[in-house]
Amino acid sequence: MVHTSQPYLGRLAPSPTGLLHLGHAHTFWLAAQRAAAAGGSLLLRNDDLDAARCRPEFVEAFQNDLRWLGLSWTEPMLTQSQRVPLYRAALARLHAAGHIYPCHHSRREIAEAASAPHENGLNDEPLYPAEWRPPPDASLPPLTDPIICNWRFRVPDGETVAFTDAHAGPQSAIAGRDFGDFLVWRKDDVPSYQLACALDDGELGITEVVRGDDLIKSTFRQLLLLRALGLPEPTYYHADLVTDDTGQRLAKRHDALSLRALRDSGQSPAQLIERF
Ligand code: GLU
Repeated sequence: MVHTSQPYLGRLAPSPTGLLHLGHAHTFWLAAQRAAAAGGSLLLRNDDLDAARCRPEFVEAFQNDLRWLGLSWTEPMLTQSQRVPLYRAALARLHAAGHIYPCHHSRREIAEAASAPHENGLNDEPLYPAEWRPPPDASLPPLTDPIICNWRFRVPDGETVAFTDAHAGPQSAIAGRDFGDFLVWRKDDVPSYQLACALDDGELGITEVVRGDDLIKSTFRQLLLLRALGLPEPTYYHADLVTDDTGQRLAKRHDALSLRALRDSGQSPAQLIERF
């Protein structure tokens, strides 16, 4: 399902795990430019599901930094930790349709058992061994409350997942070869990023996702989830990531390039934007 005539709706989706850096500013500024050019609007989504890494002060910080940069969005901000019942309902739909199964293997076991990655593989996580999957017709145990084991999405082996990125051009990957069965819910009862993100983008009717090109790999998985859930698919614009002087991708720990530090050193938003 693809959007046809809806007005442009984009989103800014920071994770409150640190201060925003120049790379985020670049991506979010691009998102705002594309929304403005299309006469559309933006939502702000607080991706705070990873409780161990997220801190409330960084939520306030990203709101301030984005405002300082001159960006605006439709209030109220959405907070993923408050939307868990929606993700749980989506999990139940995936369960009812037989798209998921419980997985009792540890990350280490999977890493040890995984076959060498295919040369075109996404190489972001080991390929889940297909022989560990339950047979497709095996009856599934019910979803417990709380969830106490990992649940994985069964990818359609051999199916090519393709999309045309508005910046990076045509992209494709083969399910089961370039990427394997991936987590949708964790045994500590937390939805995976892939599920929460796909559900939000689909249910909120996001028409275009603008984000860093490190997430192209996630898009294949999210498209499979959107299709399995019968939700509309956004189009995608994956922006080049900003690198530092040594060519390294910026991480949040490069404090000197945090927006906060640049702002405190007297840089104006206009001077920053000139660098993009
Ligand atoms: N919150 C994610 C991150 O900061 C981005 C998710 C997305 O744009 O899909 O990496």
